[in-house]
Amino acid sequence: ASGKGTIARALARHFRLPHMDTGLLYRAVALKLWRWGGDPGSEFEALRACDDLGVEPDDPELRSGPVSEIASRISVYPPIRAALLKRQQDFARQDGGAVLDGRDIGTVIAPQAEVKLFVTAAPEIRAQRRLEEILSRGMRAHYEEVLADIRARDRRDSSRDVAPLKPAPDAILLDTSDLTVDQAIAKALSLVEQRLAVSR
Ligand code: C5P
Repeated sequence: ASGKGTIARALARHFRLPHMDTGLLYRAVALKLWRWGGDPGSEFEALRACDDLGVEPDDPELRSGPVSEIASRISVYPPIRAALLKRQQDFARQDGGAVLDGRDIGTVIAPQAEVKLFVTAAPEIRAQRRLEEILSRGMRAHYEEVLADIRARDRRDSSRDVAPLKPAPDAILLDTSDLTVDQAIAKALSLVEQRLAVSR
């Protein structure tokens, strides 16, 4: 809910590049495990869910609360990250380039990327956005619970040993807390254009 997905899709459209939402890979593993009734506390079971992984990006369950929680839990396992690495790097290295969004793109997946954006927003703002998204899908949720979930995920994603959530040293920071969607996209585009003008 920082807006990274929306911004990534807009940038991909603008530059006519293919886009990969890498969070969906972790969510797809989580959903498979959840449907099996597997234990997210077991690295072995989570790794089995990576075999022959198919991703149905429009499946609403990919974004459900339990699946978000499991995705965050299983993403701390190094073998899971390793199993998903090649798919992301192949996508990133394709001829003509690509846009990828995810927590470790600039640091682990594509450290040589031409432009890196690190998109953030205050937890309270992300909780409000997530709540509106959930309610608009006809599901129920409470602000306090959504905020607590976001804080717990932030803590886990930032404190894990492997590929923790942190900006690459050469990433451009973009805080979308006080921006509308259109403003965030316009700002991202201008930051990318500036960086390209310098690097080319
Ligand atoms: O971005 P999204 O919320 O869809 O990601 C779901 C979960 O997948 C995150 O909480 C994070 O733990 C994990 N993830 C990750 N590395 C990525 C993308 C997602 O660890 N590149």
